Amino acid sequence: MEQIDNKTIEGLLLNEENIGILESIIIKDKERLEGLDNHNKKELDLGGIVRAKDFENEFKTAKEAALDYLDINVNEDPKIGNTNEKPGFYAFNLLRYIFYPGMALGCLNALQTLPNVLEAAGVTAVSALSMLVMEIGWIFFKSQACYYQKEKKMFIAEVERFNVLGSMMHEYGHFLFHIKDISKTPKNYLEHRTFEEGFCDSLKYSAGERLAEKEDNPDSLIHNLRRRIGNLQSVYKNMCRRKGIEIKKEITERANRIPFVIQVNSMSTYGYGHAFCRILEEKHGKEIYKKILEKDFSFL
Ligand SMILES: [Zn+2]
Repeated sequence: MEQIDNKTIEGLLLNEENIGILESIIIKDKERLEGLDNHNKKELDLGGIVRAKDFENEFKTAKEAALDYLDINVNEDPKIGNTNEKPGFYAFNLLRYIFYPGMALGCLNALQTLPNVLEAAGVTAVSALSMLVMEIGWIFFKSQACYYQKEKKMFIAEVERFNVLGSMMHEYGHFLFHIKDISKTPKNYLEHRTFEEGFCDSLKYSAGERLAEKEDNPDSLIHNLRRRIGNLQSVYKNMCRRKGIEIKKEITERANRIPFVIQVNSMSTYGYGHAFCRILEEKHGKEIYKKILEKDFSFL
């Protein structure tokens, strides 16, 4: 599978012609977003929180949207679990509860034994910072959806409906790579991670866009476009920097109310992979996704 390994894909993406295509994609997406009513809206309604007991039901919608976009039929389904069943979940949680009293005792001890107020304050500040880092790690871990090849199982967080559907479509992409023998093992996955994550994210955004339209759900459509544009803008800036090309302001200025946080993943394999798949889609049509699953990479 050398055609799609990480290095090869990065090399193909960083071709000057592709920067021009990416610019036109971003402009098109921004025009589409700005053409929608309420595209400036601050609070978007993405549906209520979906509980794990309803995952199976929502998965039917996510699967149908994904397969409809890919134009294929698949009978086998992955198993679905809540992120709090993820391997390591309970161990990580337990670690937090052991860690915090230990930290607190350490701070008390420092305050009593260290004669210098500054030293004691330093120990306390470092402890507080460690707890903060641990807590951020924990929030990330428990909210992060993922796919486990061993059990053919996706783990999904209980969040707003449209985000649940988006995660399901993304993880379903991993399931398809797995059952179609493109990712036979976790090692295979790591070798072509950029391409696979790109496929999964493109599926999430492209199938998600259609689904939001089909369900007449304008807030979800706005949310989907904002995230997609933000991701592509980050990659664009990064590509320009690496190629020594001037960054065009009209491409990178934020489309209305794109949350700042999503602009930070400029170096991520997800961003690169997503931009790459979107460029391929623009050049060769959405049939590429079907070809990818048939292991036909002749369009690369
Ligand atoms: Zn993924």
